[in-house]
Amino acid sequence: MKEEKCKVSENINIKGKYYSMKIETAYIAKKSRPGNFVMAAVSTASDPLLKRPFGIFRAAPPFIWLYYEVVGKGTELLSQKKKGDFLTLLGPLGNSFPGLENKNILLVAGGRGIAPLFYAAEDYVSRNNLFLIYGAKSAADLNLLDKLEALNMTGTYFYTDDGSAGKKGFVTTDIREIIETQKIDLTISCGPEAMFKSLNGELKGLDVENYASLEAIMGCGFGICYSCAVKSAAGDYKKVCADGPVFRLEDIEW
Ligand SMILES: Cc1cc2nc3c(=O)[nH]c(=O)nc-3n(C[C@H](O)[C@H](O)[C@H](O)COP(=O)(O)OP(=O)(O)OC[C@H]3O[C@@H](n4cnc5c(N)ncnc54)[C@H](O)[C@@H]3O)c2cc1C
Repeated sequence: MKEEKCKVSENINIKGKYYSMKIETAYIAKKSRPGNFVMAAVSTASDPLLKRPFGIFRAAPPFIWLYYEVVGKGTELLSQKKKGDFLTLLGPLGNSFPGLENKNILLVAGGRGIAPLFYAAEDYVSRNNLFLIYGAKSAADLNLLDKLEALNMTGTYFYTDDGSAGKKGFVTTDIREIIETQKIDLTISCGPEAMFKSLNGELKGLDVENYASLEAIMGCGFGICYSCAVKSAAGDYKKVCADGPVFRLEDIEW
């Protein structure tokens, strides 16, 4: 990992509170693997003081892309960055998704959880049969559909809670059936905590490996401050930043 002062190449409002930012960052772009994240110094002033974590959405040296949702002060400041502005990033951080070949992989994305899974999809698609379940609250939260279509995955399934796009339901609605009919070997998921809880219940007893990329409130990003600790199923605590963000789903206490 390294701290780099990077140049913002573009910062596009995709729709509503969702943005995509392209950043020139030679070191991080070269070193990053799908699943890694960066800590971004969203302000040069003292508020907010702490950097904010974002999964890497795409990387093509010397650029990386972030896909982010504006939820508070830090992400609001990020959304105001313009082409040519500088942004200090620390990264790449965390572990990465497993290296896979000739597998039937099911990606499961909830809302902005699509960000690190998109990077994984670009990496996996040529060597595996790739399937995606992508769900969000409503059509306003379901983005990147053209980019996902361009990846030409073996199967895609879209859901919204209110039925305004895709099928009405949750990412878990048909998951057992999809796993059985598509002979899925493993799932890789990213989304809100409620989604993981529900997934953990649905996937119990099935003969599939399950990986989950977690979000947590994070202070440092590299294992010093313990603010991102989560309880493991074994009863000890894991740091999302340094032990993760990718864990076996069943290794976490939900
Ligand atoms: C490893 C990792 C990868 C992430 N990747 C992405 C990504 O690709 N795109 C994206 O939009 N967001 C991502 N997040 C979440 C993002 O870091 C938070 O949304 C952001 O830090 C909020 O900052 P803020 O100042 O705008 O909000 P704040 O004002 O700090 O908080 C606003 C709301 O967001 C919640 N929140 C704050 N920080 C986090 C956090 N770290 N995780 C979850 N909820 C948080 C708060 O509880 C509060 O409800 C990721 C988080 C982690 C830990």
